[in-house]
Amino acid sequence: MIHPPRIRFPTRHPLVAVLTVLIAVVLFPGVTHRDPSPGVAHRDPPGSGAPTGRVAQPEKRMLAAVHRAPGVPSGAGVPSGAGESSGAGESSGAGESSGAGMWAGVTERGRPPEAAIAWRRSRAVGKPNHGRLLGGVELPAAGTLFVTVDPVTGTSPNRAWRRYGTDRLLRVLLRVAEEHAAAHPGAARLVIGDLSRPHGGRFGPEYGGDGHRSHQNGLDADVYYPRRDGLERVPRRVGQVDRRLAQELVNRFVRAGAQYVFVGPRTGLRGPAKVVMTLANHDDHLHVRIRPGTGVRR
Ligand SMILES: [Zn+2]
Repeated sequence: MIHPPRIRFPTRHPLVAVLTVLIAVVLFPGVTHRDPSPGVAHRDPPGSGAPTGRVAQPEKRMLAAVHRAPGVPSGAGVPSGAGESSGAGESSGAGESSGAGMWAGVTERGRPPEAAIAWRRSRAVGKPNHGRLLGGVELPAAGTLFVTVDPVTGTSPNRAWRRYGTDRLLRVLLRVAEEHAAAHPGAARLVIGDLSRPHGGRFGPEYGGDGHRSHQNGLDADVYYPRRDGLERVPRRVGQVDRRLAQELVNRFVRAGAQYVFVGPRTGLRGPAKVVMTLANHDDHLHVRIRPGTGVRR
C-alpha cells in the first residue's frame, strides 16, 4: 500500500516472499551492512542533548536500504492497519506482529524500541480539553523512525510522563513516521513533542512551559515540522521549516484519518478545510488530533 510493487510475483504466498528476501540478502549483501561513514547531515551536534540520535542512525539507514532492496516484494516489510483499524490493535498485537516484519532487517542488535511498546487497548474519556486516559500506551523516548523532544526544556528525549496516548494514536504516529522514512530514506526522523500524561487530565502550564489546553485524553500529539537543514530538532523560525516535507506530513496525517491537524498561520500549510486549520503558536509544530475510538464524535 505504501510502496508500489516494482516486480510482479506469480504468487503472494508468504513463503515466496520470505525466500525472495533471503535471496535478495545473499545477492545484495550490501543492503544489510551498516555504513560506518560519518557526516550525516541530520545528526545533532555534540552536546545538543539528543542522546539517541546517533544510536539509531545505522539502523535507520538499514531500514532505508531494506526498503530499496531489489527483489523485495512490496508489503513484505510494511506494517498494516495502523490508523483505520481502531480496536483491532490489541487482539492482533500490532506492535509485535507488524513490528517483526517492519524491522526484520534491523533486529540483529536487539529489538528496536518500537517493537517493545507495551500495547494495550486504551480508552479516551471525555474531551481533549477536559478528559482523561484509560490504558494509555507510552511512546518510547526514541525509535528507529522518530525522536521525542521536551517542549519545556527543548532537549531530547521528552520525559516519559509526557508521552502517553491511546494505542491508536501511537499507531497513527508510527505509521506516518514509517511512511515518511520510506518516502525519504536518510531524512531526519519524525520529531515528536507532547502527547498526554499517563492517565490524561490537565496538562496546563503547571506542568511547565505554556502547557496545553487539550492533550488531556490521549488523542492529541505535537509533531515538529521537518527542518530544511535536516536536523532532528525543533525549528526556531518558520523559515527553517522544510515546507514541502511539512506539507507531506500534514497530508499523511489527514490520510491516516486525523480529525484535526492544526498548523501555524505563517507556515503556508494547507489541507481539507474542516480538518486542517491554522492556529496561533503552531508555526514550529503541527498538532494532530485523532478521533476517539471507532465512533464519529465531536
Ligand atoms: Zn498540541
